[in-house]
Amino acid sequence: MAMADMRPPIESGCPDGFQYMHPAMRRNFGLWKYHTDPRPGVLRHVAESSEEIFTVKCGTQRILDIFSLRELTSIGDEFADGYIRFTIRSNIEYYVTDESKVEPLINALESKGYVVGGTKNSVAAISHTQGWLHCDIPGTDASGVVKSMMDELIGEFKAWNMPNRVHITTSCCQINCGGQGDIAINIQHTKPPKIDHAQVSNVCERPSVVARCPVAAIRPAMVDGKASLEVDEKKCICCGACFPPCPPMMINDAEHSKLAVWIGGNHSNARGKPTFQKLVASAIPNNPPRWPEAAGIVKLILKCYKEDARDWERVGEWVERIGWPRFFELTGLPFTKYHIDNWRGARASLNASTHIRF
Ligand code: SF4
Ligand code: SF4
Repeated sequence: MAMADMRPPIESGCPDGFQYMHPAMRRNFGLWKYHTDPRPGVLRHVAESSEEIFTVKCGTQRILDIFSLRELTSIGDEFADGYIRFTIRSNIEYYVTDESKVEPLINALESKGYVVGGTKNSVAAISHTQGWLHCDIPGTDASGVVKSMMDELIGEFKAWNMPNRVHITTSCCQINCGGQGDIAINIQHTKPPKIDHAQVSNVCERPSVVARCPVAAIRPAMVDGKASLEVDEKKCICCGACFPPCPPMMINDAEHSKLAVWIGGNHSNARGKPTFQKLVASAIPNNPPRWPEAAGIVKLILKCYKEDARDWERVGEWVERIGWPRFFELTGLPFTKYHIDNWRGARASLNASTHIRF
């Protein structure tokens, strides 16, 4: 086929964001001079041209129903300048160039039950995964955990009480998204998968399942005359990586899939190196609908951080300064053998820095 006859590729993906930006932001793109924080949830940006724009940040539940979305956008049309943006932490941001519009906009949002906050040294909205709706590996309903926890932390979202900003993340499986946060609530499987041998040969591509295991714990096996798999349970680290390519290797379990809390993670390299989070509480009951045990531990860590950290120290920096033994003393959380990472394979196979290796 001649090149001229070939169908051009259809490019899909994110549309150009400039068309949706507030005109004042387009005019001053790359020309912002400084910003101030007039009150919790509000940022004031000043451009080289002296033009100003006010951003009002409002928390949402991330998985928005169409009625809430219509309500939020109508508020934007009536009380702001008709431009919005959603942040990575599921906040909706409104923009106004006239300062006198800020107060009525906040009043309109609060009168409908929405909360304004999440800026500067507050607890920002929790960034969360939600595999329960779309993914093939979740072990828990992350949105439920987030909702229960933010209900308890709403005062901290709306105020500037913390030594520095606190980013909380959740992850509904043990291996994929989630990311590094000041505090992270992650699913933790504690038992190896149970194999439904009758289904393996119908559903799973066995070599790719064997290749998927990070500790080489899976082997091909014949069970009742059918091709299946077996797991060396002494080697298995209960990560759940075999479950997505092979759903008959069921690892989710109402009792044995727990939650764990990790702290001190940092993606950015703005003031120091990016850091991995460290486990501080494991085997917490995965206890819907309000997850009181996990919420209690997060609140306890926040209380100690608030009382003990110096101004502008992030959670990880605070713990590095006082030392991990002191952190466990202050919080009263038990330190057990499960907190020690003794899996040596990580040294060779996991990235521990932002440097690219070949
Ligand atoms: S954390 Fe895991 S289960 Fe949840 S959405 Fe991400 S990949 Fe899917
Ligand atoms: S849970 Fe993880 S370690 Fe265990 S068998 Fe599956 S892939 Fe391997």
